[in-house]
Amino acid sequence: MRDLFGAELRWFQHIEETARRVFGHHGYGEIRTPILEELDVFKRSVGESSDIVNKEMYEFTDKGGRQVVMRPENTAGIVRAAIQHKLLASSDPVLFWCIGPQFRYERMQTGRYRQFWQVDAESLGVATPESEAESLLMLHSFLTELGLKSLVFSINSVGTPESRPAFHAAFRAFFAERADRFCEDCHRRIESNPLRVLDCKNEKCQAALEGHPVITDHLDEASARHHARLKVLLKELGIPFEENPRLVRGLDYYTRTAFEVLSSDLGAQSALLGGGRYDGLVKQLGGPDVPAFGWAIGLDRLAMVLQQIRGEAPYAPPALLIPLGDRAATEALKLARTLWAAGVALQLETRGGALKKAMASANRMGIQTVLILGDGELDNGTVTVKHMVTGEQESWPLEEVVARLADQ
Ligand code: AMP
Repeated sequence: MRDLFGAELRWFQHIEETARRVFGHHGYGEIRTPILEELDVFKRSVGESSDIVNKEMYEFTDKGGRQVVMRPENTAGIVRAAIQHKLLASSDPVLFWCIGPQFRYERMQTGRYRQFWQVDAESLGVATPESEAESLLMLHSFLTELGLKSLVFSINSVGTPESRPAFHAAFRAFFAERADRFCEDCHRRIESNPLRVLDCKNEKCQAALEGHPVITDHLDEASARHHARLKVLLKELGIPFEENPRLVRGLDYYTRTAFEVLSSDLGAQSALLGGGRYDGLVKQLGGPDVPAFGWAIGLDRLAMVLQQIRGEAPYAPPALLIPLGDRAATEALKLARTLWAAGVALQLETRGGALKKAMASANRMGIQTVLILGDGELDNGTVTVKHMVTGEQESWPLEEVVARLADQ
């Protein structure tokens, strides 16, 4: 877990501002759910067989004897909230986005933290491919506005729980013919959750999968139509996509569309985020049987990528006002109040003491405009202005300071 501040936090803030604007324009409302949820929320959603629930949750018993968890992801909490507040009682769509910290007790590795941040967007109550296209378009705008380039949406359909057994049968037969080439984990997966064999990270398993039966060839008719329609919509919208028959979301409640976003900014084949349709989840958590689609992106990684490709986050440092002497210290507070009221970003030097020390601080803080107010300036009704980048110095009449600073 780490502290976030300064330049690194600025990327997080910029991402958050962009999210709020873009998602707001799409009609998504923000939701903030508690960090602590009941254990059952994740057991019944993410599932007891997943690594997250099995090994990675911060769970404890609170003073009231309840088993609680510091949320490892956001979707389950949002769905829990929508059910609890009966937001899904009508057929109105429920569009939520959310930003916040998540907690997973993971092995230490670069870019993975035990407290990390995610932005989610969830569309509850709509089953159409149009709702997916809308959500993916929003995601595309969000990432493009942040400055990511060459985005490719990698998509697949995992069908429905009803139609999947047909694929499972074909896939198990394929697996049986070359079983000795798969790892031990895959031997377990082929029994419990065959789809997960497709995204095994082991290179030998990936090689053994050559020529495997493709799930989109085994879809029920409605899922096949859904998938074809989504592809038409993405084409019409000019969202670059490719089909990836090995892209799966392994949990039972996932249905139809699964996707990831790849960006050339991350190097070859590296995924920035993933998401998909989870029509079974609301019901599984005790709500009505309504469809849903959503995705989550990790901010820690996104901020790191933006730092690499764009350098420092956009930031305009405040001006610094340095008073010299007691009389100026009083007048500086009054001048600063006027400037703040006018919307000028200004930091006030309140330590007193020598100008040299204050100027050295201004340099270290990256301040670009320094205002100096001493007895001489007060007598003349002026302020001395030093432009730190050029070293240029000038004198401004006091009554022009607001307008001139606002102009910069
Ligand atoms: P997941 O919920 O595992 O599908 O991950 C969704 C997003 O969260 C991805 O963009 C991941 O990079 C990010 N993420 C997941 N776990 C961590 C972690 N421990 N530290 C940083 N980012 C993470």
